[in-house]
Amino acid sequence: MDMSEEELNRMTQVLHERFGYSALRPGQETVVEAVLEGRDTLAIMPTGGGKSLCYQLPALCMEGVTVVVSPLIALMKDQVDGLRAKGIEAGAVNSAQGIEEYRRVMQELRTGKLKIIYVAPERFAQDRFMSQLTECHVALLAVDEAHCLSQWGHDFRPEYLRLGRVREQLGNPPVIALTATATKVVREDIVTALRLKEPAVIVSGFARSNLHFRISHCEGKKEKFLRIRRTVAEWKKGIIYCSTRKNVMNVYSELKEMGANAVAYHAGMTDEEREFSQNAFISGQADIVVATNAFGMGIDRPDVRFVVHYEIPGSVEAYYQEAGRAGRDGKEACCELLFNHADLKTQEFFYEGSNPSLSLIRSLYNLLVLLCGSSPSGEVQLSVDEMAARLGRDVNPMGVGTGLSVLMRAGAISRTDVPGSKTKSTRVSSLDVPFAALEIDSSILNEKAARDHRKIEAITRYAYSGCCRQKWILDYFGETGSKPCGQCDICLAAPPEDVHELSGTSLNILRKALSGVARASGRNPDGTRRPIYGRSKIMDMLRGAKKATLNSHLRGLSTYGILAELTDQQLRALFRAMQDAGLVESSGGDMPLISLTDLGDRVMKGKLENISMSTRGWGEEKKAGVPQKLGASSRALSAILSSAQEKTALYRELVATRMELARQFHLPPYRIASNDSLHALASLRPTTVQGALRIKGFGAWSCEHVLPALVAVIQAFCEEE
Ligand code: ADP
Ligand code: ZN
Repeated sequence: MDMSEEELNRMTQVLHERFGYSALRPGQETVVEAVLEGRDTLAIMPTGGGKSLCYQLPALCMEGVTVVVSPLIALMKDQVDGLRAKGIEAGAVNSAQGIEEYRRVMQELRTGKLKIIYVAPERFAQDRFMSQLTECHVALLAVDEAHCLSQWGHDFRPEYLRLGRVREQLGNPPVIALTATATKVVREDIVTALRLKEPAVIVSGFARSNLHFRISHCEGKKEKFLRIRRTVAEWKKGIIYCSTRKNVMNVYSELKEMGANAVAYHAGMTDEEREFSQNAFISGQADIVVATNAFGMGIDRPDVRFVVHYEIPGSVEAYYQEAGRAGRDGKEACCELLFNHADLKTQEFFYEGSNPSLSLIRSLYNLLVLLCGSSPSGEVQLSVDEMAARLGRDVNPMGVGTGLSVLMRAGAISRTDVPGSKTKSTRVSSLDVPFAALEIDSSILNEKAARDHRKIEAITRYAYSGCCRQKWILDYFGETGSKPCGQCDICLAAPPEDVHELSGTSLNILRKALSGVARASGRNPDGTRRPIYGRSKIMDMLRGAKKATLNSHLRGLSTYGILAELTDQQLRALFRAMQDAGLVESSGGDMPLISLTDLGDRVMKGKLENISMSTRGWGEEKKAGVPQKLGASSRALSAILSSAQEKTALYRELVATRMELARQFHLPPYRIASNDSLHALASLRPTTVQGALRIKGFGAWSCEHVLPALVAVIQAFCEEE
């Protein structure tokens, strides 16, 4: 069911009048539509992505009250005050307020005055509160920070588990769950716990268009230091993350030797030292901080120009969060991962440390039973390192630390601080309970281990991937519809063959064409551009066509006839290349409209030098597009190829298969096969791999991985014909 026009108008009006925004962000729009259609919705957006509006706007368009569950009591007051200032009836119920205020809010709720009520999760356990709430008509249940209901999230809150039942008690209103972080498991937990029915799952807003991602494969330390030198020279201010304290100090010394203004930060330093480093970096006194992942929580220096990872981190989630500290001010910034396969050992060490074997936990427990049993106080004061040493020479102390947490969670032991000592005291809850009788669910431990392992595998895949870095990450998070970013190392290392860095005439032609696209678009009320013409109209305008179909608006533009020297065919090639390079985009549908992308805008304004794109068919660097490999028959082939490169049905099937292969191998499509190779395949129709090998662009790797699939398509096609 789609939203009616009337509903849409009403929503837009509320958006303008109450919230003062000119438009919803694309992700918000999808979410709000789903909610207003009455669907259960799971919205995953980064912090600052605009989650609040996703339930506040529907709340104002629906009959009844919207109940917002949020664990952030401190922020509730701000939210409520903000809404009230906009004339929206909102209130909050939490432990931070006095009885007077509570009574007032409940009174407003009962009389149906409230549109939005914020509720702390523990409140739903109170029968009196619940019975009053169930009297009301609840339009929507919004669960903010929804990852809190997953044990796998970083912030589990048991009170959240009650919410599925609460929903039922409230008469099953539609639910919107919102969070900034949700891995697949956490998403599944949210859907199960809140009993979401065929939910619309919308991931959006994770793209960071000002970040230039790059992965540099480095042989060793020397190469890494060289990369750091370059990056520091180019981008100046930033963070260098290392996996270990030792490497923090190594890199720090290297920077000092370079004369860089740097500080170090890791958990082994004293509180004062760390505070000093942190303040120096935040205040801008230091340009660079070298740190372990302990650094960054709550750091909001906006002008961080680079984030370098000296070693591969443990997960894509952690990588993107840390890299994302670059360029908060929206200006260009660089995120570079220095990758060496051997560094994965460190991650494996951490993995083992946070996933100790059951037998290690058993030995640890038995050791503690023994020691506590023979100690007069029944307690033992031993550091984690000492315990590890007692358990054996190769025992990973980090694993022992994790083991202690597991035992504490199972209620098997308790640990308390000892005044005047850094070492905690440990007590076994009851000495006569054998390990086997403890409440430790090994299947949960195994599951967590498997999950952690998959995370390392994922970041390793990222390090070895060969397609747009930004797009890879967005795909990983489940954000659909992203396009190659145009500025990561892969996007800039353009495809072989027909791609060139533009200069001179070609660059000039490109800029003229982009200005034409810009001029030939309308303006939204907020000043952003809105596409209004399709490609052929814009091309006619650029050519200066006298056609009657060209309206006076297009004929009156300053870009009218600005590319009169190009033929129709050249213009078409140019537009295709601009679209492939992500400079313009088309709206899709039957009558696609063309508009400039941000990237195109920057190229047009000359803010971005070094633009590489295909010049085939329009630019000055054009080469003869004749595959050399075919020898004698090459003239025939070139004739076929140049016959307007018509897109036959077979060609389209080959393109689709290429896309599948690209996904399968995590490669950009052009690495699988160039368009020309596909055209050649479609024209020559070889039905054996051997035959296909005569076409340029296919080698040994293709012979094994690519051609069998493509040839199968040709075979099936020929049989059908
Ligand atoms: P989140 O809860 O996802 O961290 P918020 O809901 O606090 O994000 O919104 C972040 C910021 O974005 C706020 O300052 C908000 O006013 C602004 N914002 C949200 N939606 C829009 C919009 N459609 N247009 C303009 N600004 C918006
Ligand atoms: Zn890219």
